[in-house]
Amino acid sequence: MKALVKKFAKPGLWLDEVPIPEYGINDVLIKIEQTAICGTDLHIWDWNAWAQKTIPVPMVIGHEFVGRVAAMGSNVYDLNVGDIVSGEGHIVCGRCRNCLAGRRHLCKDTSGVGVNRPGAFAEYVSIPVTNVWHADPTIPLDVLSIFDPFGNATHTTLAFPVLGEDVLITGAGPIGIMATAIARHAGARYIVTTDVNPYRLDLAKKMGATVALNIKEKSVAQVVRELGMKEGFDVGLEMSGNESAFHTMLENMCHGGKIALLGIPEHDMAIDWNRVIFNSLTIKGIYGREMYETWYLMQSLIKIGLDLTPVITHRLHYTEFEEGFRVMGTGNSGKVILRWTE
Ligand code: NAD
Ligand code: ZN
Repeated sequence: MKALVKKFAKPGLWLDEVPIPEYGINDVLIKIEQTAICGTDLHIWDWNAWAQKTIPVPMVIGHEFVGRVAAMGSNVYDLNVGDIVSGEGHIVCGRCRNCLAGRRHLCKDTSGVGVNRPGAFAEYVSIPVTNVWHADPTIPLDVLSIFDPFGNATHTTLAFPVLGEDVLITGAGPIGIMATAIARHAGARYIVTTDVNPYRLDLAKKMGATVALNIKEKSVAQVVRELGMKEGFDVGLEMSGNESAFHTMLENMCHGGKIALLGIPEHDMAIDWNRVIFNSLTIKGIYGREMYETWYLMQSLIKIGLDLTPVITHRLHYTEFEEGFRVMGTGNSGKVILRWTE
């Protein structure tokens, strides 16, 4: 089968011919329909320090996908060939305390599809049936292909109640844009979404931001004054991984404010802990998606009218992957989708 492979320990990706993956008695073989490019895939392309220490070469990469069940192991009894499925890219041990208690997103032995094991930028992927999301077939395939990052956005945005609250979202990447839409849908009052990229801020505005703020032009504090918010933001969603964005967030939270951190900083960040203590802030780290509460909520949100299609800005065939990665690299995109059918 055709697959996008990290074939050599250097920048780039290679379209290659590899064997169709094997599947065990508890696994499902999925014929890929569409995939989406994640920031992680860009890091793997670039071969940054994280990728060098994490990705064994050669490796089929990719973890955001939708496809159809092609075959399944003998223990799988509740799927049919042809069913539309997406998949949770975090494979967990199933036996640790957290897994046994149903907190599988907190498993300490998580491995990643397209990171530690063969991924979905291919004609087929094989994953355990416990990682298969049996999708509602009325949801468009391109929306299902971005359920993984939509899950990051949903998990983070709903980490704290947002109904009637004022929300600051730092970073209008695809996940910050989707978080803006979710917060709007979930009944937030003011949503201020920040970035430095006008293309992405336009998308955030379209998806429901009260103010899509270019922090090069105006400060968050200024917007707080203009909106007449006397006490600062109730909820902060950090989705840039940028140190100064996190500092700005800490400075603009109300006393008792709640912060969910999704963005991954490149280095250690020093913060003013006195602000956290004296302002009684709550800070929660977010990793992945809750299995499968987040997936359930995502599907419900789409069914009750949340429209994610504006965040999908580019649709290409997998043979055009170089163009897809180039566009993602410029930052002037939302989600970039690769189609694996003709
Ligand atoms: P992205 O890199 O596409 O978006 C980040 C955005 O932040 C960019 O648009 C960038 O212009 C913007 N930005 C940079 N500096 C800024 C500043 N000072 N203020 C405001 N915005 C600024 O990433 P994404 O795919 O949308 O993901 C968002 C973040 O979440 C990334 O850091 C990613 O690594 C992380 N992530 C974490 C998890 C997890 O499980 N914790 C999962 C997926 C992604
Ligand atoms: Zn576990």
